[in-house]
Amino acid sequence: MLQGLRVDLALNLLNQAGWVLPDGLVAGSTPWFQALIDGLCEVSSRDALTGLANRRQFEVAIAREIDRVARSGEPALLLVLDIDHFKKINDTHGHAAGDMVIQSVAYALQDCVRPMDTVARVGGEEFAIILPNCPPTFGQAVAERVRKKIEAQPVALVGGQVLTVTVSVGGAFAPQWVRSSAALWSERADQQLYRAKREGRNRTCLEAQAITSVSNEEKELLFSTVEQIGQSDALSVTDLGSGLQA
Ligand code: GH3
Ligand code: MG
Ligand code: MG
Repeated sequence: MLQGLRVDLALNLLNQAGWVLPDGLVAGSTPWFQALIDGLCEVSSRDALTGLANRRQFEVAIAREIDRVARSGEPALLLVLDIDHFKKINDTHGHAAGDMVIQSVAYALQDCVRPMDTVARVGGEEFAIILPNCPPTFGQAVAERVRKKIEAQPVALVGGQVLTVTVSVGGAFAPQWVRSSAALWSERADQQLYRAKREGRNRTCLEAQAITSVSNEEKELLFSTVEQIGQSDALSVTDLGSGLQA
């Protein structure tokens, strides 16, 4: 069945990405193919420059986290970060130096979070961190710790020059017990990031406790389910909705 299957490209890709198949596997055997598939999955979920989760993997992780929050009610924080005045770094020191700055920020971010947190590169000089089980009272402190870590870590360029870079950070909590969407959650965090930029950069802005600001879309996501379940019940969706502030 597998005769004529071409795997050279896949092997080349893995090779280039530095992925090594485990020793002792017989080429063409089922364990060998499984290792090949695992390698391809891993490589396609990573950002090539930094090794962080890429946008595709971030989308998977945030969808999973939304499900978890809705089921368990545990709080989760999403942080979005953007390097300040990055264009100037590129313009002054060149694109290669810019790449080094991106890598250095990526390593620093990965270094200052828990293993259960997902750090992703979601754009050119933009990153996101999903922090499951992060109580709202700790949100600001966590975000500040990340911001300060970047500020405190100088980036050494190839020519010996040393740069200091800063990031602006926006954050929002997933509304507990409410089935939200990745787009809405990200949008909330993005709004806070824009605020951090507007207010002068190199700062963190977190949305006030999420559950008090459930949007109409989120109410619909929640109450459309209630409607389906309770079509014949006396439960009033309007009454339920009035308990939450828009
Ligand atoms: P702000 O403080 O408002 O974020 O200013 P900024 O200059 O960082 O803003 P902007 O988002 O406009 O600039 C991002 C720049 O990042 C533009 C783009 O050329 C550069 N960029 C995007 N991806 C890469 C990359 O992979 N490597 C390098 N070196 N530069 C990149
Ligand atoms: Mg940007
Ligand atoms: Mg920027």
